[in-house]
Amino acid sequence: MEALSSLDPRWSAHALQILRLCIWLVLLAAIFTPLERLFALHPKRIFRKAILTDLGYYFISSLVPSILLSFPLALLAWGVHRFIPGGFFAVIAAWPVWLRVAASFLVGEVGFYWGHRWSHEIPLLWRFHAIHHSAEHIDYLINTRAHPVDMVFTRLCGLVPLYILGLASPVGGSGSLIPVLIVLLGTVWGFFIHANVRWRFGPLEWLVATPAFHHWHHANDNPSVINKNYSPMLPVIDRLFGTLHLPPDSQPRTYGIDQPLSPILLGQLVDPFVLWRKNSTPVMPPSDQSDAPLSEPIGRPEVDPPPGHPPPNHL
Ligand SMILES: [Zn+2]
Ligand SMILES: [Zn+2]
Repeated sequence: MEALSSLDPRWSAHALQILRLCIWLVLLAAIFTPLERLFALHPKRIFRKAILTDLGYYFISSLVPSILLSFPLALLAWGVHRFIPGGFFAVIAAWPVWLRVAASFLVGEVGFYWGHRWSHEIPLLWRFHAIHHSAEHIDYLINTRAHPVDMVFTRLCGLVPLYILGLASPVGGSGSLIPVLIVLLGTVWGFFIHANVRWRFGPLEWLVATPAFHHWHHANDNPSVINKNYSPMLPVIDRLFGTLHLPPDSQPRTYGIDQPLSPILLGQLVDPFVLWRKNSTPVMPPSDQSDAPLSEPIGRPEVDPPPGHPPPNHL
C-alpha cells in the first residue's frame, strides 16, 4: 500500500483497482474451485484450455466497459433533462424506495433480456457476443469472457429504460445507486449461473436463474436447444417471450459455437471490427450457420412458447 501511495494519483488509482480485482479473483477462485471439483457437471482440469485468455477477459471486462459507458451515459443525462419534463420524474421520485427498486429490477431485466436477444439475432451484434459463446467449457470464469462492446451494449439496454422512466439517475444522487446495485447483483449472480455445478433446485428454478438455466443458454447439443434462456435473473421473462428451455432432468452435453474464432485474445477483440476478411467465414448467428438435421432431442421436450410468440430464429 505504501508503494501505491508514492505513485502518481492517477496511476495509484488504476493500481488500486487492479489490486482490488486480484483480491476478488482470489475470493471467487476460493469459493468456486472447490465447488466445481466436488459437484462438477462436466469434470475438467483447473488449468483448462483457454484459462489464460479468460483471465485476460476478467480484467478487461472489469475495467473497460465502465470507461466506454461514460460517454453514452453523459449523452443520455443531457437528453433526459432536455426532453423529458421534470414533473414526470417528480411523480416517480415520490414512490416508496421498495417500489422504485422493484420496478427498476423488473424494467432492467426486460431491457437486459432484449439487449441479449438482439445480440443473438442481429449479425453485427452477434460478431461481438459470439466471443462469450465460443467457450467450450463453462465455469464461473466464463461470466466475464465477453467483448467490451458486447458488455456495453447489453448494459445500456438494461440501464437506459431506467433513466428514461426516471427510476434512476445517470448523473449521481440517490437515484444513481439503483443501477449500481442492479449491475453488481447481476455480476455476482453471473459468476454463480456459469459455475460448472450439477445442482438442480426444483421449483425454485422457475423463479430465479440457476446454473442449469444458463448452461442451456450456452448449449450446442443441437439446433433445437440454442437461442434459449436470455434472461440474467428471471426465467419468467423467457417464459413470457417464448424462449424458455429448462427440462427438469437433463443438462447440456456440449457448449460453444461452430464458427471459427481467433484462438488469441487480441484477435478476438479485433476481429468483430473487421467486417470483410479475405478467405474467412463470417461469424453469423447460430440460426444461419447450419442446415444440419436435428439430432435426437435430449431430456423432456422444452416448454411450449405461449401462443402468439414464434420461436426465435437465432441466438
Ligand atoms: Zn448469449
Ligand atoms: Zn453466459
